[in-house]
Amino acid sequence: MPSSPKRTGRTTPVRSAPVAPAAVQIDLFPERPSVERLDPRANVGPRTGVEDLVRVRLRAVEAPHLVFHDRHGWYCEAHGATCPAVAVARAEDPPA
Ligand SMILES: [Zn+2]
Repeated sequence: MPSSPKRTGRTTPVRSAPVAPAAVQIDLFPERPSVERLDPRANVGPRTGVEDLVRVRLRAVEAPHLVFHDRHGWYCEAHGATCPAVAVARAEDPPA
């Protein structure tokens, strides 16, 4: 019986197709986004219910996104809750 060509030294299983993570990956942006926290009462109004107001610039050449955080949650002024700037603003927000 000839020797088998199969090598038995390798024990680590090879994963050819890892499962893609479901979480949003901010690393998709080649440039580090610029995040500036603003004062909601100074920018929206003294009686505003907005808890956080964050200006996010994903790229230097693009217009900044204005991200609000109020009782409705987080959302971009122009693009809504699904805007990628929202994820950036939330990542910058310190845990309460
Ligand atoms: Zn936006």
